[in-house]
Amino acid sequence: MIYRKFGNTGVALPLVGQGTWKMGESRERAKEEIQTLRLGIDLGMTHIDTAEMYGNGSTEELVGRAIEGVREKVFLASKVLPSNASYQGTIRACEGSLRRLRTDYLDLYLLHWWSRHPVEETMRAMEELARLGRIRFFGVSNFDIGQLGQAERAITRGSIACNQVCYHLKARGIEYSLIGYCRSRGIPLVGYSPFGSGDFPSPGSRAGRALAEIGKRHGKSARQVALNFLTREEGLFSIPKAGRAEHVRENSSAVGWELSEDDIEIINGFFPRPDRDTSLEMI
Ligand code: NAP
Repeated sequence: MIYRKFGNTGVALPLVGQGTWKMGESRERAKEEIQTLRLGIDLGMTHIDTAEMYGNGSTEELVGRAIEGVREKVFLASKVLPSNASYQGTIRACEGSLRRLRTDYLDLYLLHWWSRHPVEETMRAMEELARLGRIRFFGVSNFDIGQLGQAERAITRGSIACNQVCYHLKARGIEYSLIGYCRSRGIPLVGYSPFGSGDFPSPGSRAGRALAEIGKRHGKSARQVALNFLTREEGLFSIPKAGRAEHVRENSSAVGWELSEDDIEIINGFFPRPDRDTSLEMI
């Protein structure tokens, strides 16, 4: 695994981490999901992303079981639901996440998306949680430039550690201006749903064949090409969700090699770069 500087946190994170949405929702799958998360940690995919929303807490419970005994190796991120994001609600939600995750601190705590509660209140709660040592860093998710600016202005101590946003081959909107803005502010972007959350180009499609062809030149798969592309620049990270050992193995070797300029041109041909500002895509 390759690691890179995570903004201004002083921490280096793996380019490819592990998502957990839809894990812990079925008893039959739990054992395999736990083993897969552990394998991912062994392979260096130590950034684990979860949320109180996932499975109404059952995903955090599963993650808690998966990281038992290896907590200190993991960079653990969770998210507060916008409906809980008042000052007291954020503190309470964090305590709930910590309990389900069976840990006494989170490495990263995010506001899941823009909330009707004033962002000043949420950020004040984040600062308090950091002061209490309940979280190491805090950030946001699904924030556009205007919202990021508001969150940044609301902070009195510390800074936004990251913005977690939708980023996959068919959703490249953040390349128009958000990536540049975040880079100028030292805010890393964690790209979620790198495989389109079930909408990855099929092997039989023209785009799917092109990705496979690129992969073949490097001894890699189409999905490894996608992950490599999505983490090709400083400040970009990706968190695919994989519930099977063969998938997590494949994802772990998606980085540490380089796509050529020709490869990137082909990718741009099938999945065009945005040519105008659009509203942030969300899944
Ligand atoms: P995703 O990572 O784009 O895709 C997950 C799907 O890809 C699963 O069906 C998985 O199957 C499959 N997969 C993974 N690796 C594979 C491989 N090497 N070969 C073939 N199939 C593979 O979807 P996602 O779960 O929506 O996004 C990833 C994570 O981002 C989430 O789990 C969550 O942590 C986060 N997220 C955040 C937000 C937000 O609002 N902040 C929104 C959406 C997602 P198996 O499970 O069978 O391996």
